[in-house]
Amino acid sequence: MKNVVIFGAPGSGKGTQSELIIKEFGLAHISTGDVLRAEIANGTELGKTAKGYMDNGQLVPDSLIIDILASVLDSKGKNIPGVIFDGFPRTIAQAEALNAMLKERGTQINVVVGLEVEEDELIKRIVERGKTSGRSDDNAETAKKRLSTYFNQTLPLKDFYVKEGKYASIKGMGSIESIFADIKKAIENA
Ligand code: ADP
Repeated sequence: MKNVVIFGAPGSGKGTQSELIIKEFGLAHISTGDVLRAEIANGTELGKTAKGYMDNGQLVPDSLIIDILASVLDSKGKNIPGVIFDGFPRTIAQAEALNAMLKERGTQINVVVGLEVEEDELIKRIVERGKTSGRSDDNAETAKKRLSTYFNQTLPLKDFYVKEGKYASIKGMGSIESIFADIKKAIENA
């Protein structure tokens, strides 16, 4: 099993690079943002609760997201070469829960691919994506809140994974292909 976390700020290219990683390595994709958007589209209780946080640029509470992650993980079955976690973990509590969850299942995280992108570029990309994504959180105002949530609650995770010796820093500016070439090397070496 090769389990990968793709880590970075909103707009850093996690979704785009995840697709390329899946094609190359055949990993199962778990995007918590996509899972939450599906819950919203289906009008579930979880979706209703999540939407309030998402539209405000805040994180959905850990307890909700950790429960759903465990069931999504088990729904992928046992015959997969690994998982790419996209948008999860986003807090230290989530990272600890993920470690425990994988350990119970006899596996672990192999590498955390950290996409590093400058802040001005992030806002630009999110606003640009908002023209076609249909996402109610892809606007300049919510993007600023999402970024401050990222810096306060998620960025501390970088240190957590550096200490575990799993963090691979990748420059997330430049062409999609050149960024992917660096990611590919980091995953192959993990
Ligand atoms: P992005 O990384 O571009 O902000 P995502 O689709 O990953 O987009 O996430 C959209 C929103 O969904 C987040 O702003 C947050 O409100 C919620 N969300 C996604 N993943 C998590 C998570 N692991 N923990 C808490 N909230 C989450």
